[in-house]
Amino acid sequence: MIKLFNDYRFKIINKSLGEIMCGIVACIIKDEASTVLLECVRRLEYRGYDSVGIATLSEDIYIKKGEGKIDDVQEKIVLTDIPGNMGIAHVRWATHGLPTGKNAHPHTDCQKRIAVVHNGIIENYKELKNKLIDEGHIFVSDTDTEVIPHLIEKYMDMGNGLEVATRMATKDIKGSYAIAAISSDEPDKIIGVRKESPLIVGVGEKEFFIASDVPAVLDHTNKIIYLNDNEMVILTAEGVIIKDDEGKVLEKEIETIEWTSDMAKKGGYKHFMLKEIHEQPEVVKNTLMEYSEIEKVVQNFSDFKRVCFVACGTSYHASLVGKYLFETLLGIPTDVVLSSEFIFSEPSLDSDTLVIFISQSGETADTLKALKVAKKNLKPL
Ligand code: GLU
Repeated sequence: MIKLFNDYRFKIINKSLGEIMCGIVACIIKDEASTVLLECVRRLEYRGYDSVGIATLSEDIYIKKGEGKIDDVQEKIVLTDIPGNMGIAHVRWATHGLPTGKNAHPHTDCQKRIAVVHNGIIENYKELKNKLIDEGHIFVSDTDTEVIPHLIEKYMDMGNGLEVATRMATKDIKGSYAIAAISSDEPDKIIGVRKESPLIVGVGEKEFFIASDVPAVLDHTNKIIYLNDNEMVILTAEGVIIKDDEGKVLEKEIETIEWTSDMAKKGGYKHFMLKEIHEQPEVVKNTLMEYSEIEKVVQNFSDFKRVCFVACGTSYHASLVGKYLFETLLGIPTDVVLSSEFIFSEPSLDSDTLVIFISQSGETADTLKALKVAKKNLKPL
């Protein structure tokens, strides 16, 4: 069996291509912010993540971050002992750079006077990073995100405030983003801005929030402003101002959300299934936004004569659709094997077979077990 496995080739596609999830939260409140930030970002856990981080601002910026689940990181390094009544938080779903503490958000500029959390993908980060390095900026992570605080730094160094510098930075960026940024040079505000990644504003009683989704803030306020693409929010202890990408103030409607916290998790739908059915257009859009990533993976497929999907439950049924598509559109014979059977079956796979493991949550025990066995015995692509 080992010998046979050794002939396989496989590649792990680390993330579900349909989901560019993760979550960001920011707040200015009356009390210490770190505990509230952690509690809010916990409400976004359902979106999936691999690491977590918080930055608070009193006179300086304080950052705590680490790889893993919120509770585990909290137990190891205590995320909530940093001072300040304002801050930003992030649960990361790594797209660029491994899920490590170093790559976890928030990311900072060279002087650590700007901190940024980001949800999305900066498509032109390589050229921006090279240019910034040529200009003397020092990078410490492998993420695409880190270009953002350095761009803001560059524009602040030219004499602009955080708001204008962030707006200028977004003009340099190609791709998708929801961003929250703070600076110790302007310790009275948080800037949020979005394009193709979700961002909402929570308007409480002298407490103001930014978040990727409504459930994050619902314990604090049910007054919500939905930001559109290219809109920016400036959060201060006095209130919120929304501007367009030219800096013009916009009048936005504040909506009152009547959902319960439980309904909010389901996006206001009665059942998760209904929510997921309605999310399909967004999921297809998100998947296509990763076209270049998909292309990189798919271009290897022509090397193979057979495909074997390994999956459970809904992923198993999705794989059956995959089998139909691969066979009819690509003419590649395709099998679908239940994860629980994979380690027992010795299907006639050889070095011309591509094995693809699919898991919706990324945590399906049988699929992970099959993958573990495969990783131990198979040859990477
Ligand atoms: N592209 C960024 C990263 O890999 C953000 C990913 C996210 O949305 O969590 O760090």
